[in-house]
Amino acid sequence: MRVKAGSNIAVFLDRDGTINEDTGYLHEPEELVIINGAAEAIRRLNAASVMVVVVSNQSGVGRGFFTDSDVEAVNKRLIDVIKADGAKVDAIYYCNHHPDEDCECRKPSPGMIMKASAEHGIDLNFSYVVGDKGSDIELAFNAGAKGVLVLTGKGKGELQKLKRPAGFVAEDLTGAVLWILDDLKRRGASLPNSG
Ligand SMILES: [Mg+2]
Ligand SMILES: [Zn+2]
Repeated sequence: MRVKAGSNIAVFLDRDGTINEDTGYLHEPEELVIINGAAEAIRRLNAASVMVVVVSNQSGVGRGFFTDSDVEAVNKRLIDVIKADGAKVDAIYYCNHHPDEDCECRKPSPGMIMKASAEHGIDLNFSYVVGDKGSDIELAFNAGAKGVLVLTGKGKGELQKLKRPAGFVAEDLTGAVLWILDDLKRRGASLPNSG
């Protein structure tokens, strides 16, 4: 199977518990703590010309705990901190709805990935979702991508109750990215600088 001509490969990353510590309804930029090695892992994806797209459920907005501008301030801080380490996030999507709203974007529904895929020409067959929750693995399934569970954040507890098997279980984002780059090579996807 080949990557669709002119399409991008993407790794969709969960935010809280995957890139940064999950402190519970994080909404203060100063409280953002990047998990060890996460920026370097993202740099490896950048070097391999794999798009890095963050997809995050932020129901704290729908629940009235904080506002969209709080989410955006944290996201901006995330981009800046990662950038200071030479790494780039290509896009961030988040769902701000309450779970009861039954929207199409709250993970594990694939709305955010479908939107990103349309906006950035992504070949989902060759794409991956990395996250610390069962809903991230179900999201991968619902989007036709492969799911990787990380054991940071809530990952260790979630591993026990996965509804679907993950394509791979990694210690952290670094382990996930190394596996993904190997997996792409095994599948014969041509990456410019993945050597
Ligand atoms: Mg998470
Ligand atoms: Zn939503």
